[in-house]
Amino acid sequence: LRMVSSSPVGNEPVSDEELRPHVLDGFIGQPLLKAQLQLFLDAARKRDVPPDHILLAGPPGLGKTTLAMIVANELGVPIRVTSGPAIQHAGDLASILSSLEAGEVLFIDEIHRLPRAAEELLYIAMEDFRVDVMVGKGPGASSIPLTLPRFTVIGATTREGMLPSPLRARFGFTAHLDFYPHDELEKLITRSAAVLGLPLDDGSAAQLARRSRGTPRIANRLLRRVRDWAVVHELDTVEPDDVVEALALYQIDTEGLDRLDIAVLNAIVTNFNGGPVGVNNLAAMVGEESETVETVCEPYLVREGFMVRTPRGRVATRKAWDHLGLTPPDGAGA
Ligand code: ADP
Repeated sequence: LRMVSSSPVGNEPVSDEELRPHVLDGFIGQPLLKAQLQLFLDAARKRDVPPDHILLAGPPGLGKTTLAMIVANELGVPIRVTSGPAIQHAGDLASILSSLEAGEVLFIDEIHRLPRAAEELLYIAMEDFRVDVMVGKGPGASSIPLTLPRFTVIGATTREGMLPSPLRARFGFTAHLDFYPHDELEKLITRSAAVLGLPLDDGSAAQLARRSRGTPRIANRLLRRVRDWAVVHELDTVEPDDVVEALALYQIDTEGLDRLDIAVLNAIVTNFNGGPVGVNNLAAMVGEESETVETVCEPYLVREGFMVRTPRGRVATRKAWDHLGLTPPDGAGA
């Protein structure tokens, strides 16, 4: 076994990069999405034009940035990376757009957080490949229309519903990423372990997959904690019990729920008697933004059957009470 040096817990600035697959074939799971994207890319290559704009929607850590980089790599074109919050004025976006090369991919993360004026500039650029550059200030200011080469925007969002429809309509293809089933996460963990040079015994990947909250980024993060364990204990191979012990140390929930998930369930159950409770009240109770609770926490809790959304608010299910080791009073919960 080649022992890899361990890095300090939670301090891995380049961690997402070393485990990112570079070709579509290396992207694990999401078979329908991959088939759609493959066809989309093949057609663009055959027609020898940049593909239509692509929107990637889904919770954080499911592979949106990775897919954008794969698309650029498969097309053999450069990629420019920015994000909604990084663009403060329409002018910031205008200068990025006017410097794009033909065929380049422009990746805009958190595209739902672009300022309104930038949004308008963007959808004109996406549709007509043109941008109006303002010259001068005040009454003497004038705008000069600039023609852009054809390029491809890849937008990523955790809140597709917050995109205004004119902008959403400019995307030729929208892909929805969903949480990964355990068998796909196992494959991903096995691949990442190979990249890290960490031999995993049968069953270890399954233990990790169960605790990964359906999310590749979390799977890779937990795998690194297990690697730390293996380095310190000088293990040749990692057995399932090692995974259980290593992750218990970090208080990783057996169902993959994280601190915020548990706080949310606890709040519904203990502060609101199982619900229903509105998302704003819930967010205030756990000290988070409503958007975080809605986009990061709820999709997973709902999918795993810990919570249901009703017209009157969020309700904890029997499974949530059980998981917290509590008994629902008669008539409480769903
Ligand atoms: P997002 O942009 O959706 O927040 P990323 O693309 O940054 O997520 O992915 C987070 C991490 O998970 C990266 O290290 C990436 O390599 C890995 N990852 C995500 N999806 C996959 C996948 N389908 N196959 C392999 N690795 C993946």
